[in-house]
Amino acid sequence: MPLRYHIVTFGCQMNVHDSEKMAGMLEAMGYSPAPDAESADILLFNTCSVRENPERRLFGQVGVLARRKAQNPRLIIGIGGCMMQQPGEVEKVKNELPWVDLVFGTHNLHRLPELIRRVQAGERPVIEVWQDSPEIVENIPVHRQSSLSAFVDIIYGCNKFCTYCIVPFTRGREKSRRPEEILAEVREFAARGGREVTLLGQNVNAYGKDLPGGQWDFGRLLLAVNDVEGLYRVRFTTSHPADVQESMITAMRDGEKICEHLHLPVQSGSDRVLRRMGRRYTADQYRALVERFREAIPDLTLTTDIIVGFPGETEEDFAATLRLVEDVRYDAAYTFIYSPRTGTAATRLRDHVPEPVKKERIYRLIQVVERIAQEKNDALVGSRQEVLVEGPSQHDPAMLAGRTRGNKLVHFPGPAQWAGNLKTVQIREAHAHTLYGDVVSHA
Ligand code: SF4
Repeated sequence: MPLRYHIVTFGCQMNVHDSEKMAGMLEAMGYSPAPDAESADILLFNTCSVRENPERRLFGQVGVLARRKAQNPRLIIGIGGCMMQQPGEVEKVKNELPWVDLVFGTHNLHRLPELIRRVQAGERPVIEVWQDSPEIVENIPVHRQSSLSAFVDIIYGCNKFCTYCIVPFTRGREKSRRPEEILAEVREFAARGGREVTLLGQNVNAYGKDLPGGQWDFGRLLLAVNDVEGLYRVRFTTSHPADVQESMITAMRDGEKICEHLHLPVQSGSDRVLRRMGRRYTADQYRALVERFREAIPDLTLTTDIIVGFPGETEEDFAATLRLVEDVRYDAAYTFIYSPRTGTAATRLRDHVPEPVKKERIYRLIQVVERIAQEKNDALVGSRQEVLVEGPSQHDPAMLAGRTRGNKLVHFPGPAQWAGNLKTVQIREAHAHTLYGDVVSHA
């Protein structure tokens, strides 16, 4: 029986893609995927440090493995990812979870096979966390979760140092992949029948700033990916408002495969809070930027991230956020209650907003966000949308699920073999997060 692996992933799409690389490396070593965590011979946890909740869940989930490890000492338990890059976390794992065999970070992910071999040879625990990576390691094997849609890294790390964010410390400074490497990966995926790529980075539109020659920026890269034969759609995430260049907007306007969806985190509608967050734009500059995108791409779907209860946020600041949300009218917003992250500048700020106030504010914000999302989806009823069919719906296997170019989830009846095809769907019913419709033609 071949050895089997299971990976538990916390956090963002970058982590989801890193787990695909872990799976690829494990399969190259001869492991196969386990149907569940209980039957795995190696159990890896890919951690996130951006919020508190995944950290608590990690210690809970690995904590209960003590008994299983005692019964089966051959089981390998490993923890990797962003959390292990934070000062003090490795010590905490060593002290509180001594049954963990392997600890690694984000910068030495490619060394996973070597580290596992050392554990297999009897060295326990194996702990290796690098503070930075001198260069980008290419050609790591990847086991993609989908043969239809792929994540493709274009830039690692972030230079922005927003005062609440741990990412520049856990992922390091910005490092762009060479365009040849990115395009080769996209071409290979498209040649194997892949239909959609999502270009990934903490800050995708800083792409190219660190490349020699100054010839590549994000707009040029988007258009180059747009030209890859066989591909139907190009997406990307996440963009920073302060790094938007005209070439990005024109690429979105001109590239026929580049989807009309922009995730543009605003975080707050108050200039005072934005300054304390170190976001490098004002609320009005953000509004003007949205106008520029909407002039060039009139049917743009716009989504965002908003933090509520940042230190010092007054009722007036919060009202400015609500005003901005009403003005900009997002299709969806990911809303978060601020929680301090050790090592970030914001932990030194005073005036912490009391928890009940934060909760009351996020509740009010969600009401506004949901109302606008419903109104925007209602406006699509009767329209015809190009949908890339993903396969049977997870909620209702009798229906198919797919996404519009604006990244809206649509459910509709149809046979499973439509997966991977483009269909035109007429929308007949709208909810705040999902649309329902019927196929009217086959692209
Ligand atoms: S732009 Fe700000 S929030 Fe985004 S990853 Fe960089 S530091 Fe964090």
